[in-house]
Amino acid sequence: MRIFKKYQTPPAMPQLILESDKDHSVVRHHPWIFSGAVARLSGRARAGDTVEVVSSRGKLLAKAAWSPESQIRARVWSFDADEIIDDAFFKRCVAAAVARRVALPELHGQQGLRLIHAESDGLPGVIADCYGDTVVLALTSAGAEKWRNAIVGALSKATGCARIYERSDSDVRRLEGLEPRSGWLLGDGSAIVTIHENGVKLGIDIAGGHKTGFYLDQRDNRLLLGTLALGKRVLNCFCYTGGFSLQALTGGATQVISIDSSEPALVMARDNLALNPQLDATRAEWCNASVFDELRRLRELGERFDIIVLDPPKFAPSAKHAEQAARAYKDINLHGFKLLAPGGMLMTYSCSGGIGIDYFQKIVAGAALDAGRSTRIVKRLQGAADHPVALEFPEGEYLKGLLVQVD
Ligand code: SAH
Repeated sequence: MRIFKKYQTPPAMPQLILESDKDHSVVRHHPWIFSGAVARLSGRARAGDTVEVVSSRGKLLAKAAWSPESQIRARVWSFDADEIIDDAFFKRCVAAAVARRVALPELHGQQGLRLIHAESDGLPGVIADCYGDTVVLALTSAGAEKWRNAIVGALSKATGCARIYERSDSDVRRLEGLEPRSGWLLGDGSAIVTIHENGVKLGIDIAGGHKTGFYLDQRDNRLLLGTLALGKRVLNCFCYTGGFSLQALTGGATQVISIDSSEPALVMARDNLALNPQLDATRAEWCNASVFDELRRLRELGERFDIIVLDPPKFAPSAKHAEQAARAYKDINLHGFKLLAPGGMLMTYSCSGGIGIDYFQKIVAGAALDAGRSTRIVKRLQGAADHPVALEFPEGEYLKGLLVQVD
């Protein structure tokens, strides 16, 4: 009897059968399978279980994580239908993501680094940022949730980190039917960590800060601001914990006024300035206000700036919010242009997935026109190299920016 049991064929894996004309996207290696593309599920699968993705003609296309509550009904782990999704798979994927960073000399020596950039690193729903020897992990999909232990083990092995903290508390988890979750997964201790970023010391609150605690994607752009700042008066809008402000001071700005509407962020920003005694703190001013109001107030006061940074939160999480978001982007860019001194520069960003670069450029152009400024793009800006964009996944290119000079 035993022998029979041993050689029984294993239960067949559940299969997600695609609608007849809906397999293009998977064939082109896009990792999201929307509910509208699913004809049916054959077999039983719980949230996060691995399913085989099969075309309407019966061709095996991929292995994916089933997510019954989400409009993104499945996220592909592998386009090799023979791939076995197990602990070893995550070990390989996590090690490969870390190796990709190691292969980029420009990232060497950075203490704050994104190690896993979700879909663009082949791991949908998995974000891992490291701050020194602490890794912060965010799991945002049912599939990622199911493989938490494997991912944690793989991260620990690939990085040798001392601590791993979970920050799976973003709103997108709700769309997957997942509760927020945070806390230590490996090690423990203080949730405030410090890193050096291009000559600046920064404290990061991995438990209470935004996202995993810091916006690592703007690292290169903060450095760029530093290179432009010598002798300049800078206005840093949506400053969070002062990353751009401190680079501007490092670069020799004569004054940096920083605005944010979050008091905890401003407290941390002041603390960060104090961590850098080499900087002249008398040149920094922090302002707790809404940028929308403060830009108007500064204009009424007749203020002028040589450089203005606009790095707002995500106004359009998806395309359906694009129109409303466009009005908000137009507003801040319009008032930003009005406040620039002749020859000044606007460093303006959108991190909205719902607004593409072409649309963003149109909005900024409209703002310049309405402000009566003659402008040119000096540089196009994007996320740092540890936030790569898989070519088959354009949604990964959420951060876009323009450096615009006015006459
Ligand atoms: N530039 C920052 C990241 C900005 S994140 C960096 O490099 O680290 C966006 C910031 O905008 C958050 O700190 C948030 O508190 C702030 N914010 C959101 N809405 C705002 C508003 N209307 N006025 C001012 N700040 C706002």
